[in-house]
Amino acid sequence: MDTREKYDELCRLCASYDAVKMNIFGQDGKNRQLVDKIQTCLPFKINEDDRLPKCLCYRCMYNLENFYDFRTACVNAVALLNVVFHQMIPKMEEEMV
Ligand SMILES: [Zn+2]
Repeated sequence: MDTREKYDELCRLCASYDAVKMNIFGQDGKNRQLVDKIQTCLPFKINEDDRLPKCLCYRCMYNLENFYDFRTACVNAVALLNVVFHQMIPKMEEEMV
């Protein structure tokens, strides 16, 4: 195996080698929307024809999916809190009268 092949075997997110990994742009990676999740959660872009590795190790995939779900839940919770707050304002004004 040459150096370039070894490099491409590294995880894109933690730079470590893991025998069990998933290609971000493969069918499984697309089904899991890994590109979208990485770009939503992390401060960098990822492109099929950039020069960096295109694999994720399972640990990073697990962390990424958990974090993505956590982030989505938080965004939804803040939206809900805002809706509830705006529903409370008229009631609070009634109570003040
Ligand atoms: Zn990793």
